[in-house]
Amino acid sequence: MNETARIEKLQNENWHLYEVLEVMTLISARLDLRQVLDTLMEKARDVMNAEASSLMLVDEETQELYFHTLKGGEESEKLRDLRLKVGEGISGWVAQEGKPVLVEDASQDPRFSRKGDAKSSFVTRSMMCVPLKISRRVLGTVQVLNKKDQQPFNSTDLRIFSALANQAAIAIENARLHELATVDGMTGLYLKNYFLARLEEEFRRTRQGGGQLSLIMSDIDHFKKVNTEHGHLGGDAALIELAHVIKDTVYELGGDDMAGRYGGEEFCVLMPDTGPDRALEVAEKIRTNIESHPIPIDGKFANITISIGIASYPRHKDHLSTAEDFIRLADEALYICKDAGRNCAKFYESR
Ligand code: GH3
Ligand code: MG
Ligand code: MG
Repeated sequence: MNETARIEKLQNENWHLYEVLEVMTLISARLDLRQVLDTLMEKARDVMNAEASSLMLVDEETQELYFHTLKGGEESEKLRDLRLKVGEGISGWVAQEGKPVLVEDASQDPRFSRKGDAKSSFVTRSMMCVPLKISRRVLGTVQVLNKKDQQPFNSTDLRIFSALANQAAIAIENARLHELATVDGMTGLYLKNYFLARLEEEFRRTRQGGGQLSLIMSDIDHFKKVNTEHGHLGGDAALIELAHVIKDTVYELGGDDMAGRYGGEEFCVLMPDTGPDRALEVAEKIRTNIESHPIPIDGKFANITISIGIASYPRHKDHLSTAEDFIRLADEALYICKDAGRNCAKFYESR
């Protein structure tokens, strides 16, 4: 290689590395995993000058790889439901061995599976596939297909692509750890401790900024009866379903509300920038959605209701000096509901 060509090659590599750095900055500024991986795979395709890029994750239960992110236009969308056994195809091989692979000519590689090309009108010529690894654990694979300049991928490409893959692996692991630490595995709602930390933070912010903040605390009516009639496992199934209704309702109503599991069968919703009127609307929406949603347990349906207590700042300002007060007030309001015959939502009232 002559001097000019070598300088050109180095400049090109430099530019690629600069792009990788830029991606890393982008990633650290975002929390949502889907967005992070979307951006990352889009960039991977650009930086590697590839026709398509994708990210597959290992389904631990079935030991299969499935697509999490696909970047390659309409054609690549046809691959959405494709699954590869660990060990099957190039990506399956990479997931099994935990080693990256550079395939200069797919038609000559016996490991290459034609499943993907057959499902779309894509013809894979050259590809790179790198494992997403955290220490020795393989979380999945990332792959880029076909260089746009018709050349096969080379070892420099593989080095740069591996750096991007490492970032993807770290982002996935961080998101998983964050979820483990903050979300209740059974219901998918936020765990009590995390919820309380967020309540404290929001309460501080609200008091400083002079805004509004509301909290609702709900408790299932006569839940002991559900356990007695359907067993503890039946009770668990009902809890999971109820949590879904709450989560869906909160999601459908939009806003920044967050739902948590405060106790065994007590759920709460924190509503930043929300005054009493909207808080009551949210509470009523949750209550009526649950009331009208027969809960399937063991092939039968149970009608379950909940009671909801509401505390709101600044409406209850005189009784709210700490985040714990917020919980206490919502809890007291809950007992007003129970006394009033259950299946209702009420504000805290000082006695
Ligand atoms: P009330 O209308 O007064 O709230 O009546 P209740 O029967 O719901 O009474 P309470 O709220 O005091 O009791 C709740 C019961 O929920 C007690 C407990 O055994 C049950 N429980 C709590 N956590 C779980 C859980 O994770 N799974 C199941 N299956 N049951 C739970
Ligand atoms: Mg209770
Ligand atoms: Mg109860």
